[in-house]
Amino acid sequence: MKLIIRNRERGYEMSHKYVYLFTEGNGKMRELLGGKGANLAEMTNLGLPVPQGFTITTEACTKYYEDGRSINDEIKAEIMEYITKMEAITGKKFGDLENPLLVSVRSGARASMPGMMDTILNLGLNEQVVEVMAAKSGNPRWAYDCYRRFIQMFSDVVMEVGKKYFEKLIDAMKERKGVHFDNELTAEDLKELAEQFKAEYKNQLGEDFPSDPKEQLFKAIEAVFRSWDNPRANIYRMDHDIPYSWGTAVNVQMMAFGNLGDTSGTGVAFTRNPATGEKGLMGEFLMNAQGEDVVAGVRTPMPIAQMQEILPEVYTQFLDVCNTLENHYRDMQDMEFTIEDKKLYMLQTRNGKRTAAAAIKIACDLIDEGMISEEEALMQIDAKSLDMLLHPQFDPAALKKAEAVSKGIAASPGAAAGTIVFTAEDAVEHGKKGEKVVLVRLETSPEDIEGMKYSQGILTVRGGQTSHAAVVARGMGTCCVSGCGDIKMDEENKVFTLHGKTYHEGDVLSLDGSTGNIYAELIPTIPADPNSGYFGRIMELADKYKTLGVRTNADTPKDAKQAAAFGAQGIGLCRTEHMFFDPSRIGAFREMICSETVEEREAALAKIEPMQQADFEGLFEALGGYPVTIRFLDPPLHEFVPTDEADIAALAASQGKTVAYIKQVINDLHEFNPMMGHRGCRLAVTYPEIAAMQTKAVIKAALAVKSRHADWNIVPEIMIPLTGEVKELKFVKDIVVKTADEVIAASGASLKYEVGTMVEIPRACLTADAIAEEAEFFCFGTNDLTQMTFGFSRDDAGKFLPAYYGSKIYESDPFARLDTTGVGQLMEMAVTKGRSVRPGMHCGICGEHGGDPSSIEFCHKIGLSYVSCSPYRVPIARLAAAQAAIKNK
Ligand code: PEP
Ligand code: MG
Repeated sequence: MKLIIRNRERGYEMSHKYVYLFTEGNGKMRELLGGKGANLAEMTNLGLPVPQGFTITTEACTKYYEDGRSINDEIKAEIMEYITKMEAITGKKFGDLENPLLVSVRSGARASMPGMMDTILNLGLNEQVVEVMAAKSGNPRWAYDCYRRFIQMFSDVVMEVGKKYFEKLIDAMKERKGVHFDNELTAEDLKELAEQFKAEYKNQLGEDFPSDPKEQLFKAIEAVFRSWDNPRANIYRMDHDIPYSWGTAVNVQMMAFGNLGDTSGTGVAFTRNPATGEKGLMGEFLMNAQGEDVVAGVRTPMPIAQMQEILPEVYTQFLDVCNTLENHYRDMQDMEFTIEDKKLYMLQTRNGKRTAAAAIKIACDLIDEGMISEEEALMQIDAKSLDMLLHPQFDPAALKKAEAVSKGIAASPGAAAGTIVFTAEDAVEHGKKGEKVVLVRLETSPEDIEGMKYSQGILTVRGGQTSHAAVVARGMGTCCVSGCGDIKMDEENKVFTLHGKTYHEGDVLSLDGSTGNIYAELIPTIPADPNSGYFGRIMELADKYKTLGVRTNADTPKDAKQAAAFGAQGIGLCRTEHMFFDPSRIGAFREMICSETVEEREAALAKIEPMQQADFEGLFEALGGYPVTIRFLDPPLHEFVPTDEADIAALAASQGKTVAYIKQVINDLHEFNPMMGHRGCRLAVTYPEIAAMQTKAVIKAALAVKSRHADWNIVPEIMIPLTGEVKELKFVKDIVVKTADEVIAASGASLKYEVGTMVEIPRACLTADAIAEEAEFFCFGTNDLTQMTFGFSRDDAGKFLPAYYGSKIYESDPFARLDTTGVGQLMEMAVTKGRSVRPGMHCGICGEHGGDPSSIEFCHKIGLSYVSCSPYRVPIARLAAAQAAIKNK
């Protein structure tokens, strides 16, 4: 008897049932059936033409890993039970010589992971079955095409024999037969290829190709489970916050054959343009082809509209299905279909991946079409993807003057300018050095993902809008021009020719991902304007629903202005030390560090004070009356002194000190563990003059700006870093208050100001009630708080964290995504304790996590007043804050 546990929250019955027919599931069962499985079930329920089959649940995948990477007997038996059910439904039999059942085996995780998981088609074929199929169908070409494809895919996906061996054999066969394309090969050619493939298989693996369909099936299912843990999947999961524990489902589905002949075909389509969001069917298809052909760029596919001419009735039916699906899911759909001898089959539908530009347009259009609410529209957009809209565009004037040397398919918008590289490895190598590269490939494959990340743009010779390069580039927000067939590529020798000109590694190239134009020159880029059109409307809507404030971390008026243009409602962190690194100031600052007496130090600080005042005035001006939080000097002083002999000598000379003395100062500043050393408020405890100088600069700047803008509400927020003990905060605060009150009194004007603290040491969280007696506000410095809570250095953790990811000890970088269980608990405690003493005190966050959507949701939940992030993440934070509010209503 199967144990059934009702799980109301999930909306389905969780049980030890590991396999579901498509007729047993529905669209809400994503967690259990994965996205693909749930949607296949949903389409079946909608009465759409879906080749029937079953889904092996994500729980079976988790069990596979729990059982030491093996499928246990109970699950195997259940799968075979479902094969029998499938045989009854289809009237075909697995491995049968009379009426053989062939299946596809495809992965399908809860969240779609394009290009991450692999597909096997035509499973169930062997030497005898293919003979029967060839004879019975009267279409031997089809039978042997299926067979050679199956051997190819099984070898590559399941047994991990590289694709290249088989591609070489196909190319050799095409050359021998004097044909260009696979579909021009005859039945005999394909039969021979299948034999060659099997020989290659044996050659590579030292064993025969498996002929038992059952063995093939279990090997394929295992391969899908295994692929959940391949390096590509792991990278994708980390980039997209997908937990490892989710696992992937496996879909076993009866084959529909798009390679039966000229009345068959296969394709992919979107109900709206995934690059621009334009309403209207968009897609590609290939006649007499199977599955991967369209996306793999084997032949250049035809636009979907051409189907109307070739198979008008199927086209009309397909349009109907598209409408049904979009109306049903109330979102843009990305579909895969096959036509088997004029009969349409739907193989997949999902909410389509899209560029940020498309996402905001589709969201706005769906509101206007009355299809979704404002809240739903906001929830539809991936906040992180907005980053794409902030990417630079070509300078229109320079673009006008430039002359395109060729044109490909505009596959992913954006502007790329850089030097040519031919391999993903080269892209990584150059990209890591900060060099701008354009990756040029025949076509891309999942192994290229890392290199694609480091590229400004991607150019491929083959493939269309839905090729791997196009789909992945759009997901990354990287510019991509695909299918530039004019290029004659020689990947091996890292060279290509285009209209008679030869291009080598290191030559320059610019790509326009919005037009597909290719330029043999570097075209300058300019920043994008994020405040117009759909973007502006989405941001306005985000502001309507969010309750969290969004501030920015900005140290210069330039950054502050940029952030204000992106909608920042204040500065949450100005790291004042950054102002001292300027070459015109570092001298005075070093003078301060090397002073022998308080008088000397005060004299040096007096030189810095007006510079600081000017900086702060610039910040207040840029924010136009919004709050500005100024954090007092934080890093250990050794960061400011020279290390180079020549610089040390120059410093000694400029200050009238001996080299030996300067070296002694530098030596004295040395600490074994500077991040836990003489920094933060500890500097102000030992050098109160620094805090006094900074206070004077802040207050004088505020008074000056206030006098120029009487209607602005200027209330400077002075923030003391690294507090761990209320008495040290009080010590520094007393200096600030005394100095500020003197400056205000001397000015004859009035000014309100606040003194608060960063909360970035666990002890500050534990004693937050005591600290709130003095602090007028809290701001969580989660960079340090994460460092101190985990006890590992934010500067060094990068060296060993990859091993932790590899061993699944951590699934994400705790410095990028807030550790809500540990660090988050401390934050929540601090907010509660702080507000118990000072009700309603404002609490923010200004660590890196302030711009990360999942961390922002946590900040919303614990009642923070605002998040503060770098200027370019302000729009992301605004949307993420709105999504957090909607989700947690
Ligand atoms: C922090 O620690 O989170 C913080 C914002 O301060 P800094 O990064 O300057 O240490
Ligand atoms: Mg800090």
